[in-house]
Amino acid sequence: MIVGEHKPIEEIIESIKDYSNVLVVGCQTCVAVSLTGGDRAARSMTEALAHAFKESKPLHIFENSMLERQCEKDWIKPFFDLPQGVDAILSLACGAGVQTMADIFKGIPVLPGLNTTFLGAQDAPGVFNEKCAGCGDCLLGLTGGICPIARCAKHLLNGPCGGSSKGKCEISISLGRDVECAWHLIVDRLKELGKLDNYEKISEAKNWTPGGAGGPRQLVHPGETPF
Ligand code: SF4
Ligand code: SF4
Repeated sequence: MIVGEHKPIEEIIESIKDYSNVLVVGCQTCVAVSLTGGDRAARSMTEALAHAFKESKPLHIFENSMLERQCEKDWIKPFFDLPQGVDAILSLACGAGVQTMADIFKGIPVLPGLNTTFLGAQDAPGVFNEKCAGCGDCLLGLTGGICPIARCAKHLLNGPCGGSSKGKCEISISLGRDVECAWHLIVDRLKELGKLDNYEKISEAKNWTPGGAGGPRQLVHPGETPF
């Protein structure tokens, strides 16, 4: 799923301070799971902003609204009528959701309430870890299902580096928490799978064109017309 974090409240306050009627809109899909964009998060944001502006200026924060998915025009158009007088939208969606909303509500600024951070998985309740960097040419078949691009701090295709110690990545020191060395995990997994011969294969320099270096990517299914 796409994981997002709340922007600092001071930054959000600054971004909406010139508007009078702000609608907070949550998104019920990925960022709801990562606890930053769903119903409860949108309600908390609405309350926090109402409180922040209580004495400084007459800003009306509308009751929050929810959309199932802000990244799909088909989900936005039929289910969303803007309340009268809204002059800005604070979107608690990922960057794709914010931009899709901005495409639909062209005359109204759509401001991001989240920082979109990574593609990840929930490994324990409330704990999300980055798992994929969307490189466009997946290597997981070679690496035992562990991504060296998203999970190795140096994005090494042939690892581990000399900083791996007792299975931990050297980045653990600066992060102040234990981070598994992705390549240590890969070797262990390949052993379990009886596929250590994969580890003997040297990966060539990666072509990053499908990963975005070739420009914005698009997927078109046959029979569908891109917007
Ligand atoms: S190899 Fe690429 S597509 Fe596969 S998980 Fe890693 S970043 Fe994602
Ligand atoms: S210690 Fe492991 S995870 Fe960390 S940068 Fe080196 S190879 Fe990558």
